[in-house]
Amino acid sequence: MIIILKKSATKADADRLLKVIEEQGLEPLYMPGSERTVLGAIGDERVLANLSIDAYPCVDRVLPILSPYKRASRELHTHDSTVKVGDITIGPGHFTIIAGPCAVENETQIMETARIVKKAGGVILRGGAYKPRTSPYSFQGLEEEGLVLLQKASKETGLPVVTEITDVHDIDKMLPYIDMFQVGARNMQNFRLLRKLGKAGKPVLLKRGMSATYNDLLMSAEYILAEGNPDVVLCERGIRTFEQGTRNTLDLNAVPYLRERTHLPILVDPSHGTGIRSLVTPMSKAAVAAGADGIMVEVHVQPDQALSDGQQSLFPEQFEKLVAQIGRYAELEGRVLA
Ligand code: PEP
Ligand code: MN
Repeated sequence: MIIILKKSATKADADRLLKVIEEQGLEPLYMPGSERTVLGAIGDERVLANLSIDAYPCVDRVLPILSPYKRASRELHTHDSTVKVGDITIGPGHFTIIAGPCAVENETQIMETARIVKKAGGVILRGGAYKPRTSPYSFQGLEEEGLVLLQKASKETGLPVVTEITDVHDIDKMLPYIDMFQVGARNMQNFRLLRKLGKAGKPVLLKRGMSATYNDLLMSAEYILAEGNPDVVLCERGIRTFEQGTRNTLDLNAVPYLRERTHLPILVDPSHGTGIRSLVTPMSKAAVAAGADGIMVEVHVQPDQALSDGQQSLFPEQFEKLVAQIGRYAELEGRVLA
């Protein structure tokens, strides 16, 4: 619930209420404003209903938080959040380019691709060590060896790394190697994984499930936030529709729709969103115009040799061109590539 205090309320009044909220096992939030102070209480709805906060003389009004995703919603948290990944800031004023291969394949491939990403102006390196493939006979990733190589590429280039987690049991193993966990489309509703990532102490890139609604995505983000991790970044990566021409249908409606409802940063993945290399640059430009905080794109030193998603991976020179062009679009939107 949202608790609006009277103008005359003192800091001591607020502290007293915050204590009452905490004692009930609810999460208290303190938001002092220039006009008046607003408090929040989040948690078990039955406990909230019995709290009788409006009986306190310092309270002006009590309003329910209407959205089911209390922490992800803008209702209590009205300004846009920023999320730090290493020393990179994702959020307002910035346009973040995350790039790298679909999968880490070998040392030469990831090192060379990382250098290309860095030189062109990408700021975070991606690369899958654990790959959730549709077929069990496809390349499944180098696993721990992939993490070691990612870390090596990160150390040489200075780029922080994001990589996908596919099993809740891998969290501790992955922690020393990475800067951000990626939860892929296929795991967006793996609630036990989300809960554990809420306590893992690293930012999470949460990709929309291919058949997930906006509400589903926000509720999944809520699972992570509810465990105390505020550093969640959403990613639109295309959904399943009747259209067969593209791998997925990149739903750019998601960006302004989510923006109105959540304070969390929103990225777009035009690589998985289209599945076609030549569509990645135009849809990246569209993502900037839709108000995204950044993009995640697949780039490979030799896409025609890639072990996964070669058809949607950019050639190095295409990626360089993309970054150069996106900088101008981002500027129009008041954002800098950084
Ligand atoms: C990926 O980013 O490599 C990936 C597997 O994406 P998604 O989970 O969106 O399919
Ligand atoms: Mn991929």
